[in-house]
Amino acid sequence: MKLVVQVKLLPTSQQAAALEATLDANLAAGNLGKPGSPRRVKIEAQPISFRSLAAQPYDDRCLSWQHDARTVSIWTTAGRLKGVAFTGSAQQLALLAVHRRGESDLICRDGMWFLYATVEVADQPLSQPDGFVGVDLGIANIATTSDGARHCGKGLNAVRHRHRRLCRRLQTKQTKSAKRLLKRRRRSEARFAANVNHIIAKSIVTEAERTGRGIALEDLQGIRERVRLRTPQRVTLHSWSFHQLGAFIAYKAVRAGVAVILVDAAYTSQQCSHCGHVDKRNRPDQATFSCTSCGFAEHADVNAARNIASRGETGWAVSHAA
Ligand SMILES: [Zn+2]
Repeated sequence: MKLVVQVKLLPTSQQAAALEATLDANLAAGNLGKPGSPRRVKIEAQPISFRSLAAQPYDDRCLSWQHDARTVSIWTTAGRLKGVAFTGSAQQLALLAVHRRGESDLICRDGMWFLYATVEVADQPLSQPDGFVGVDLGIANIATTSDGARHCGKGLNAVRHRHRRLCRRLQTKQTKSAKRLLKRRRRSEARFAANVNHIIAKSIVTEAERTGRGIALEDLQGIRERVRLRTPQRVTLHSWSFHQLGAFIAYKAVRAGVAVILVDAAYTSQQCSHCGHVDKRNRPDQATFSCTSCGFAEHADVNAARNIASRGETGWAVSHAA
């Protein structure tokens, strides 16, 4: 499986100037696509301050890694740039040192330099699941498992609200610096959300792996339907975040050899996971599930996650019957 590892470059000011000149020269030379190509048009249409986002792909002839020294050498328009220091998380650095293959992208963002390097890791062989962990995605609780583990979105939602308030204030100012600040805020919020999603995905996959089970996720098509009820801004944010969490769970699962199945999540919130009875009145409020037929009561998200787990089990049995 291919993954992308991100490391931060720590160039000296002289090195940064050479990198900058190279990115500019590349744009001029059409290395970012032929004139009129969608990629080129998109990059050129951006105001100059954002053009720095342009990514420059490097292969092994033009970029070499010195893992022990934690430096890279890069070919620039000014010649070979040696000893550009880089840094990253211990885990990312370890992946990089052992599994890096192919191209890396050089990117400048908010005046900081990054390399996005491709690594290729072997997948674990898929193990036959003995049951499924169901995962219900939501807003108050980002993810709830059929085991009853609730990953609460409180921290994430608080950050979002803080950002939203600040954005509203900034949006009334149309100055250049306000726009720049807005852009930076949005990126930092996205990074925070991605980090939360990574942590949740890891804990779910680890638990499934430990107990020899697969993971049942609701088909994300259904999420869009459900979240459409909210205000437009939240829809974009949350559906984007849901897709990301689903993607993180899926790739971590593949890496660990854990089976993943997508299930139709229609009525999982109204259906009783004990007797199967479906009724809107089974949900007296957002957090509670209480079956009007058999009296079974449970946290609403846990009940939904159990339905997802059993649909996963059925779905797996059907698709692996032969
Ligand atoms: Zn029931």
